[in-house]
Amino acid sequence: MNTLSQKDKQYLLDSIREIEDFPKPGIKFKDITTLLGNDHAFNLLMDHLTLRYQNQEIDYIAGIESRGFIFGAALAARLKTRFVPIRKPGKLPYTTISEKYSLEYGVDEVAIHIDAFSMEGNPKPKVLLIDDLIATGGTATAAVNLINKAGAQCVEACFIINLTFLQGDLDIKKTTCVYSVLEVD
Ligand code: AMP
Repeated sequence: MNTLSQKDKQYLLDSIREIEDFPKPGIKFKDITTLLGNDHAFNLLMDHLTLRYQNQEIDYIAGIESRGFIFGAALAARLKTRFVPIRKPGKLPYTTISEKYSLEYGVDEVAIHIDAFSMEGNPKPKVLLIDDLIATGGTATAAVNLINKAGAQCVEACFIINLTFLQGDLDIKKTTCVYSVLEVD
């Protein structure tokens, strides 16, 4: 399994801009658009993820709206595999199934097309879930449950950044393996 050097990790971390008090006071928002706009950083990251997953026979990559679409679709193209979007409710045009999850106040929901993982000759395809960041872990845990409900098996959930002080990865680990490229505390 390939690993990134500390120098490379620091380079990637430095390529991500932090915005204080966005979208609300107290949140330090990790803005990955600066990583995407840096060709060296984006390719360093994609090379690393390609090496990690290229021999794992991943049938689908499922990306969480919206930043998970960017990394997920880029990785699917690198691995020559399939991409499935996991979206907020009401966005997907065909029949969907969905999964609700709790927020600090209220509930949210993720949805997927009912036939997203209908792969000929493979009743239980292997899915890699990808998103940019783990905060509380609620979105990703719901997405893993949704993938499994849709008849596939989520073999790993991959993130660019894990905000370790929130310990959101502990919840996700109850449902699948977790890999995060960068850890921030
Ligand atoms: P959670 O369900 O709490 O783990 O939240 C994860 C989702 O919210 C991901 O899709 C992230 O893109 C977004 N998110 C939460 N906190 C942040 C943050 N501090 N910076 C950037 N994105 C965040």
